[in-house]
Amino acid sequence: SENILDIKDLNVSFNLPEGTVKVLNGINFTIRKDEVFGIVGESGCGKSVTASSILQLLPKNAQRSGEILLHTENGIINITSLTPTDEKMRQIRGNDIAMIFQEPAASFSPVYTIGEQMIENIILHKTLSEKEAKEIALEMIEKVKIPDPKKIINSYPFELSGGMLQRCMIALALSCNPMILIADEPTTALDVTIQAQILYLMKELQKEFESSIIFITHDLGVIAQMADRVAVMYLGKIVEEGTVYDIFNNPLHPYTRALMTSIPKVGIKKTRLEAIKGIVPDPFNKPKGCSFHNRCPNYIAGVCDTKEPKNITFSKDHTVACFLYGGKNNE
Ligand code: SF4
Ligand code: MG
Repeated sequence: SENILDIKDLNVSFNLPEGTVKVLNGINFTIRKDEVFGIVGESGCGKSVTASSILQLLPKNAQRSGEILLHTENGIINITSLTPTDEKMRQIRGNDIAMIFQEPAASFSPVYTIGEQMIENIILHKTLSEKEAKEIALEMIEKVKIPDPKKIINSYPFELSGGMLQRCMIALALSCNPMILIADEPTTALDVTIQAQILYLMKELQKEFESSIIFITHDLGVIAQMADRVAVMYLGKIVEEGTVYDIFNNPLHPYTRALMTSIPKVGIKKTRLEAIKGIVPDPFNKPKGCSFHNRCPNYIAGVCDTKEPKNITFSKDHTVACFLYGGKNNE
C-alpha cells in the first residue's frame, strides 16, 4: 500500500560536555498506510530519539541530518526543512502525527480536567466551537471504552488509574484523526492484564481509524501482537527489517536471533534483553566495524571488526546488515 512517511539517512548526534555522541547512524525506513510498524531494541538504541526526530522534539544540543518526508493530501512535506517552532510543524504535531508516551500521568497537566485538555487539543487543530470539540472528546472517550465518559471528562488526571489515563491519552491522540500515531512504550508502565487490554484496544482503533502506528518497544512479545512490519535497532542503526513473519520465523541478524531466545516463556519470570551475552558498548566508544561484534556469536575476525556491514536485501521487505549475508555485495 501507499507510503505515508519516508525516513532517509537520518543521523542524530548529541553535543555533550564529554564530546559528541552519535545516537542515530543512517536510519532509513518507510511507513505505509494502515500498518503498524514496530521498532524494537534495547533501551538506549535510539528508538525514542527516532520518534523525537520525526516530531522535531529533539533537545537543543542535538544535531540532525537526513530527510523526513510526510506524504499528505496536499503533497509531500519535508519535516526536516521546518524549524521545531514553525506553525506548520505545530500543525503536524498532534494533527498529522500524534504521540503517546510511556507515562500517561506525565503527558497530562495535573491542573486541568481530561475534558479541558482534550478540547484544547482539538480546537488547536480544527476550526470547531468548544461545544463541538466537547462532543468529539466525549465520543473519543467512548471509543476507548471507559464507562461514564461524562464523568471522565470532568475528572482530573490524579483521579484516574494508570490504565484509564492511558486510554484517555489514546483518546486525545486520536481525537484529530492523525495519519500516524507514534506510541513509545505505551504499556510498559502498566501491569500485564491492563497492558493486554490497551494493546487490544489500540489494534482495534488502528483498524477503525485506518491510521498507521509506529510502535516502539523493547518487548518482542508486544511486537508479535501488534506489528505488521518490524525494524530491529542496535546502537543507533537498523540491523534488520522485515515483516513480523520474517522476523519471527526467519530472523537473520545474530542480534535479532539473540533477542528471540531472550523472549520469556509463559510462567517464567520475565528476563529482559540484558540476558544477551555481553553488555551494550559505551556509545562514546563504539566498537569499530559492526557495532555488535563484541557480543556476536558469529563474529568473523578481521572482517566484522574492521568494516561496517552494508544493508542487504534478503527477500522482498526483508533486509539485514551483517556480513553473513550478501556475499560479494557486502565486501
Ligand atoms: Fe556478527 Fe559480523 Fe554479522 Fe556483526 S557483521 S552481526 S559481528 S556476523
Ligand atoms: Mg526509550
